[in-house]
Amino acid sequence: MSNKYEIKIEEKVLLLNETVFDRQKISEYEKVAIFKLYKERMIIEMAMETTCYNDLKVYGNIWFDIERKIQELMKFQKNDNFIKFWTVPNCSCQKEENEKLFPTGNYKVNSFCSVHGQNN
Ligand SMILES: [Zn+2]
Repeated sequence: MSNKYEIKIEEKVLLLNETVFDRQKISEYEKVAIFKLYKERMIIEMAMETTCYNDLKVYGNIWFDIERKIQELMKFQKNDNFIKFWTVPNCSCQKEENEKLFPTGNYKVNSFCSVHGQNN
């Protein structure tokens, strides 16, 4: 049985939390737009797993913009500190440390990270 809060692309599955949608009072109409964004995010993440080095930063920026749009459509407080940028493929930023620092915004960025670093 397929779940309406499940987004599937090939073998990848993203299961969204229905409770959050209810709590935020998201309409059926809004859900269509949000699911579309989650699908776009999955496609970007899949591309980031296989893309060449030079495109990682571009995809990383697109991913971040999608997260901002999701935040807005989900009626969450607009705040970049709530976006876990270190979860994207090929990111070498300090994941464990950033999880502990969440949601302070004082996150660590590996300057040599292919996605977020400045030294490459
Ligand atoms: Zn990174």
